[in-house]
Amino acid sequence: MGETPKKTLGLETSEPAVTPPPTDVEKAIEKKPVNPETTRKREIPQGLWTKCPGCSEMIFDRELEENLNVCGHCNHHFPVSAWTRINSLTEPGSFLEIDESMTSVDTLEFTGTAAYAEKLEKHRDKTGLKDAVITGSGNMGEHKVALGVMDFGFLGGSMGSVVGEKITRVIEMATENNLPAIIISSSGGARMYEGMFSLMQLAKTSAAIAFHGRKGLPYISVLTHPTTAGVMASYASLGDIIISEPKAMIGFAGPRVIKDTTQSELPEGFQTAEFLMERGLIDSIVNRTGMKKQLTEYLDYLCLNIKNKVKAEA
Ligand SMILES: [Zn+2]
Repeated sequence: MGETPKKTLGLETSEPAVTPPPTDVEKAIEKKPVNPETTRKREIPQGLWTKCPGCSEMIFDRELEENLNVCGHCNHHFPVSAWTRINSLTEPGSFLEIDESMTSVDTLEFTGTAAYAEKLEKHRDKTGLKDAVITGSGNMGEHKVALGVMDFGFLGGSMGSVVGEKITRVIEMATENNLPAIIISSSGGARMYEGMFSLMQLAKTSAAIAFHGRKGLPYISVLTHPTTAGVMASYASLGDIIISEPKAMIGFAGPRVIKDTTQSELPEGFQTAEFLMERGLIDSIVNRTGMKKQLTEYLDYLCLNIKNKVKAEA
């Protein structure tokens, strides 16, 4: 008689003991994948270190910034914003921006995977820029220069109506005021969202540079990674002097397109600044950290007969 209650007790305890745990275990498994993500972030704080793709060294972000986004170990040139370039090239407080409020219009009402209007808004928020180029005048050493600097961060530095118009106007400003012009390019080419309007910019900018040249004024084109397609096919390749940052990709059509069209193997280093310098398209390869000094030296030679000196004006 005394054995039976023991048996029932045994069954009662074993049954509920087996059923509940699986639900608890499932919950625990569900939670686990979330945790490693947060702990990983804790281990390597974001925005402090950057791994260099050139030499795999971990570089302290502040150190990278101070060196104009150039790796101190292997000289890899990271992308840099247009404003950082302007500040690194012009004398403090001397840069005066022109056409700063010019903005692109979605003339074609382009819609693809995303609408052009939406893309513009997104990139304006992301970069704080109105479009992919900043233009104006500033002092470089004792020279006053007209300067245009592209920003690859804004829609791949693509050239639409605004980029073309701003480049044209800054060149025209240089022509009117007897100033040398410098354009720093960084672009994937014409802006497809503006179709034919983008392509028209090639002729317009080239014509402005021709008028500038006819007046005997120098124009220096600086190529940075990457400078391709419509921009390379217009103002970027029209410099009296063409210089480039190291290892920049420079070309017109992409390597795959050329390979398929010509049905031939492309030589090693094809479409790099070094390859193009060997073949005479580029005059000099200059490190970003030495760019201001090099440009100032060129201006010293090129502007001997031009009254663009800051001292002379004052
Ligand atoms: Zn490196």
